[in-house]
This record gives sequence, C-alpha cells and structure tokens, in this order.
Amino acid sequence: TVPTLQVENLQTQFFTKAGAVTAVNDVSFTVNRGEVLGLVGESGSGKSVTGFSILGLVDQPGRVTGGKILFKGEDLTQYTEKQYKQLRGSRISMVFQDPMMTLNPVLRIDTQMVEAIRAHENVSKAEALQRARDALGQVGIPSPEERLKSYPHQFSGGMRQRVAFAIALLNKPDLIIADEPTTALDVTIQAQILYETQKLCRETGTSLVWITHDLTVVAGLADTVCVMYAGKVVESGKVDDVLDNPKHPYTEGLIGSVPSRNKRGQPLTQIPGMTPSLFNLPKGCSFRERCQYASDACQQAPSISKCEDGRLVRCHRVEEALSHV
Ligand code: SF4
Ligand code: MG
Repeated sequence: TVPTLQVENLQTQFFTKAGAVTAVNDVSFTVNRGEVLGLVGESGSGKSVTGFSILGLVDQPGRVTGGKILFKGEDLTQYTEKQYKQLRGSRISMVFQDPMMTLNPVLRIDTQMVEAIRAHENVSKAEALQRARDALGQVGIPSPEERLKSYPHQFSGGMRQRVAFAIALLNKPDLIIADEPTTALDVTIQAQILYETQKLCRETGTSLVWITHDLTVVAGLADTVCVMYAGKVVESGKVDDVLDNPKHPYTEGLIGSVPSRNKRGQPLTQIPGMTPSLFNLPKGCSFRERCQYASDACQQAPSISKCEDGRLVRCHRVEEALSHV
C-alpha cells in the first residue's frame, strides 16, 4: 500500500531583503498509515516550516522550491490553493501550540464543530452534532453534551487543546500535523493527551506527525523519529534505535541533555554553542562548530549514510565507521 505521506528532498526557501535562506533543505521521510513520526529539533531547525510546507501554508516571502510531498501518492507541491483548501480540515488536519489559532473565540464549540463537519460533508445538523458530541467524549472531555455549548475561553488550556484535537479528528483525516501542541501544558497533561491522541490515531488509521523540540515527548509515543538541525534531517529511524543508541553527534547531545533515570541528580549535559543562523551557516557540516568529533573532513558537507538497522545519518564519522565494516 502507498504510504500516507512521503516527503522527498523537500526544500523551502525564504527570499528576504537580507538574502535567500533555505529553511528546509533536502528533507525526506515517510509516514505509513496509522504511524506516528516525531519531528524533533531546536527552534530554527526547520521543523515547523516542514509542517507548514506539507500543509501548503508557507506564505510570502517563502515558498517550497524543491522536492515532492506525496500524500497518498499525490504530489501536493502541484496543488492549487483551492485544492489545498479542500484537503485541509478534511483529509489533513492540523493542531498548533496555541489552540486559538484554530478555534474561533466568539463561537460556541458546537457551532464550530458542526461547521467543520458540514464544510466538507453533506450531513444533517443533527448528525453533525452527534458526531461532535462523540468526538469530545473520545478525547476525554467530561460531560460532552454540556461542554458543546461552551466558548473556547471557558475551557482550561489542556481541555482547549483536547477540543482542538477533537476538531482535527472530526472528519477522520488520513494525516494530522501537530506543531508543539502540548508544549504550553503541564507535563502530566501532555503525557495524557499524547497517549490518547496516539491511541485514537491507531484506531482510525490516521497518521500523525508530531513536531516538538523535546525528545522525551516523542520517546513513548512515536514509531519513527526525524531529528532536524539547521534545515536538514541529521538522523532518522525507529524511535527506539535512535534513542537507545544515537549515531549523530547532535542527537547524542540532545539525549545527553535529557534527564534520564540513571542520571537523576546529575546536572544536564548541554550541547555547547548555539544553533547557527541560517543566514550564516558554517561551511561543510552545519553542526561542525558545536561538534566534539569534528575533523578536517567535516569542512565538506556530509551526505546521508544508511546504517544496518535502516537508520539514516548525515555525518562523516558515521560514514567512515560504516566503510570499515
Ligand atoms: Fe560532527 Fe563532522 Fe559528523 Fe558534522 S560531519 S556531525 S562535524 S563529525
Ligand atoms: Mg516552531
């Protein structure tokens, strides 16, 4: 069967007065039906722009300038805005860090949910209302019947984000793109929402791209993970492989800075240095100035190597180790 989403060599650039920057540079990954992909990186890594590119929401002065975005085999980079409008909210949904980006503050939840269904499907109001009620129940909102009559501000942050997920799931989309959706919430609530969303997606066969700066969030949730740095994917593979045994020095650093059981009480390791500006990337490997393993070879940009476990890593050191096997 065709994967739900295949991003191939995606490139998205912004053309500013200060020059052109490549925010997404040769990014590729695949998400199969019902799978969860964690897209991980610091701010400025290009993870959100990747999400926006898939959704057709990159605005001037930016645009997708290369590659393919195959959604169930159809290349979305060829879509018109009109085609994209039909796709968003029905076959692809999105959830953002601030639920108010998708919720209308002056409309009751029932109105918004019924509209969301009827914008894409010809069903009666009564049926739409029934589905809205079920959807709120599914995402763990108590007394959905009554809560339907509420306005967005009458929900707590966590409940509001659940409503956003309920709306995202309404039309049984093939794909949900969630951009740091739980970052603003309490850790326990984050974990609950993640767990429940993943369960619902598995049941309906919906694929999920979960964008986050926090590797721990992805650990218990994703099937696969893509780590981005300065616009490129530096490591991708099965989540357990990547977390148990990171191969790219940047992933290693990220995991070093995550508190784990055996290191409790010890200070977190920080990756020295700062994310480079996309306007002024170091020559060769973008991670070079922060990398403890950097060598002369790293003055040339590394290409992707494939490890025995299927993992993809963009690093000279890994490439060299593989060549000695
Ligand atoms: Fe470090 Fe070189 Fe690998 Fe870049 S290519 S991550 S500088 S070892
Ligand atoms: Mg972001």
